[in-house]
Amino acid sequence: MTKDKGPLGGSLMRPFPAPGSASWPVVTPIYPSVVYASETPDALDAQYEGRVSGYTYSREGHPNADVVANLVGAMEGIEGGTLTGSGMGAVTAVLMGLFKSGDHVIGGNQLYGRSLRMMKEDLPRLGFGVSLVDAGDADAVKAAIRPETRAVLIEVVANPTLRIADLDGIARVCREAGVLLVVDNTFTTPRALRPFEHGADIVIHSLTKLLAGHSDVMLGWVGARDAAIAQRLDVFAVTAGLTPSPFDCWLAERGMLTFPLRFEKAQANARALAEAMVDLPGMARVIYPGRPDHPDANRAAALVGGQGGNMLSFELTGGRAAANAFTAAARGLNFAPTLGDVGTTISHPASSSHRALTPEERGALGISEGFFRLSVGLEETEALIEVITAAVDAANRAG
Ligand SMILES: *Cc1c(COP(=O)(O)O)cnc(C)c1O
Repeated sequence: MTKDKGPLGGSLMRPFPAPGSASWPVVTPIYPSVVYASETPDALDAQYEGRVSGYTYSREGHPNADVVANLVGAMEGIEGGTLTGSGMGAVTAVLMGLFKSGDHVIGGNQLYGRSLRMMKEDLPRLGFGVSLVDAGDADAVKAAIRPETRAVLIEVVANPTLRIADLDGIARVCREAGVLLVVDNTFTTPRALRPFEHGADIVIHSLTKLLAGHSDVMLGWVGARDAAIAQRLDVFAVTAGLTPSPFDCWLAERGMLTFPLRFEKAQANARALAEAMVDLPGMARVIYPGRPDHPDANRAAALVGGQGGNMLSFELTGGRAAANAFTAAARGLNFAPTLGDVGTTISHPASSSHRALTPEERGALGISEGFFRLSVGLEETEALIEVITAAVDAANRAG
């Protein structure tokens, strides 16, 4: 497993050759075909028995999905993996494809909103036991483990507080208890962290975010270290119809080719912006995993090193009026609930991702009306600092 072997870990694939041509396209063709024809029943036998490789029906797999699955797999340091129609498809494949009624799973209590909802609403309805714990506390995970516990699902960087999970501590607990460790690596990306190297058994991605990176395609990926588990995930994804469309895969491949460059630029912007924002008037706090004043600075340094990523949160001292003034004044930056776009996007958890919580519950997480999360994009650094500084100024005047 090498970390810096070129833009995609040295894994750039040559597209399939064009029929009847000695030369080949430099871009992967799109294969929209739902079905694939074979020469004879014997040829089909050979394919189903794995003696030759080939496609049959696109829900079961198609070239565009395989190209993208292999790219993500190479970045995470495993072979292949399964592509799904969204990040939630990948979460579903793990939680519903591997376990059964009576099993118990543990989740981080600050997981992505829909993952949390699946654990709180859907899994109990299907007869699962579920416990939600602070992923910053490996002892809490250990205390939640029962004889019937099958898996622990965590994200390394919590949304929107950007707290850092005790990945190594939890990996140790899981290993000792014989429980699968599942890591949703969407926020961190394999550029900053490769969970399999820290003992994860299964890794999940929403490619919708940074990996595809242009807010024009929804896609997910799940990969497992153990071949038998990978196979079960793949079979479930096919059975449940989680397979993505060839065109979406093609868009994602195109986006992923520039992922390392986009990541570096967005991260450099986030670091510079955090630096510029800490001393602004009306700024209660700035949270960025690469900063020494981050609440989990030591853990961040150990896990992601200098790779603090592109996500930055901050809290204005003003309330809702200041928040309204901030988004209205942030010229050219979209106030929109996503992340990983080429442009900087602004999220206000109190009115979006965390609106279902009571003000007290939000308060316990440190999410006030003045709390914002930025997904920093690829703008020119000085221009971005200027726009944010002006928006904070407008917020101060309003709130
Ligand atoms: C967005 C996201 C998901 C879900 O991905 P979709 O592609 O939107 O279904 C899962 N986990 C994390 C951490 C996310 O940010």
